[in-house]
Amino acid sequence: MATMSRVAIVGGGPGGLMLARLLHLRGVSATVFERDAHADERPQGGSLDLHADTGQRAMRLARLEEAFLAEARPEHQGDPLYDQRGTLLLDRDGHGDDRPEVDRTALRRILLDALPPSTVRWGSKVGDVSLGDRAGSTLQVGSETLAFDIVVGADGAWSRVRKALTDAVPVYEGVTLIEFGYDVRRHSTVDRLVGGGKMFAVGDSRVLIAQRNGHGHIRGYAGWRMPEAEAREMARLAPETARATALQAFAGWGPSMLHLIESGDFLAVRPFYAMPIGHRWTSRPGATLLGDAAHLMSPFGGEGVNLALADAVDLADAITSGEGWSAVERCEAGMIARSIPAAKGAAEGLRGSVSPTGLADVLAHYKERLAA
Ligand SMILES: Cc1cc2nc3c(=O)[nH]c(=O)nc-3n(C[C@H](O)[C@H](O)[C@H](O)COP(=O)(O)OP(=O)(O)OC[C@H]3O[C@@H](n4cnc5c(N)ncnc54)[C@H](O)[C@@H]3O)c2cc1C
Repeated sequence: MATMSRVAIVGGGPGGLMLARLLHLRGVSATVFERDAHADERPQGGSLDLHADTGQRAMRLARLEEAFLAEARPEHQGDPLYDQRGTLLLDRDGHGDDRPEVDRTALRRILLDALPPSTVRWGSKVGDVSLGDRAGSTLQVGSETLAFDIVVGADGAWSRVRKALTDAVPVYEGVTLIEFGYDVRRHSTVDRLVGGGKMFAVGDSRVLIAQRNGHGHIRGYAGWRMPEAEAREMARLAPETARATALQAFAGWGPSMLHLIESGDFLAVRPFYAMPIGHRWTSRPGATLLGDAAHLMSPFGGEGVNLALADAVDLADAITSGEGWSAVERCEAGMIARSIPAAKGAAEGLRGSVSPTGLADVLAHYKERLAA
């Protein structure tokens, strides 16, 4: 199977759309199946920082650097650190960093605008994925059964394509965040706390994070340890009950910190799951994975979207190499190897920050970065 011309990409997140764009530049027209009904069906989430060797490199190779730079916010890389009373312990302006922030919605829009309009089939939730006997795969999309040379699972944490390739499933990491939104015009206190980028407050197995987004928005997260069943229950609570539960969990924190929980617009409950680090499925001609579908990890390392974009670059090379499946298999091994240090860092970051010694650990980490 040297040519893979019938390409299906399941999932129109950053990884799937980047792959479609890179294939398009090489004359391969993929179909992206996306369950959202349209691009604006749901808010895409907060701000992401793109790293030089992975995310930014992908944007460059996709010839989207200019569009990215027009949306990027290099000035928002600072990260003030507070204790639970609200005392500022450290602040870095982050101006020397090369990790410009971009809103997730803007990133998706840039990628969508760079694709022929018919590439994405909106409102197409993929159900079953069946692997062919020797090669190729079929997808169940509503009542349709569609056959492809290669199906790429870019369908995130709960990937349907992954299910066809492995029994491994994401494991709950013991920590759940509640997400809040703020408009800087109405939330001057939060605006001040966030400073030049992203504030972090740590103490006693709890964390508060608030991050500047574009267009005068800020997103905040209150996170603490809870059993998986409790996290599921929390997701079913009315917003004000979830907020009250968070306020109870942060009892004893300083007024400026509690203000973050009291004043934000409730957005979502986000339990953290991760795939077993370095998990490698058995390669099967006809279906593969990228991004969170391949190596889901908590966002504590800030690498997830960067890895998804880098995976897309490597997979586009493999699919168009003319070498057939062996190139895809090599690419799979490479993407998993690349994810291992990032996944270890994310797991350690989460474990260390949301722990009884979290503040000392995070402070030491910040000081190391300042000294570097
Ligand atoms: C709170 C939070 C903060 C984060 N912060 C950062 C950060 O600062 N930096 C960073 O690098 N990463 C961050 N991440 C991680 C990052 O968002 C992910 O790693 C990244 O989005 C993965 O991209 P993806 O394309 O692989 O998957 P996703 O972005 O998850 O996209 C998957 C797409 O597939 C679609 N889909 C799912 N199932 C189906 C189906 N059955 N049929 C059709 N379509 C389907 C979904 O609708 C979605 O559009 C954060 C994550 C969270 C939750």
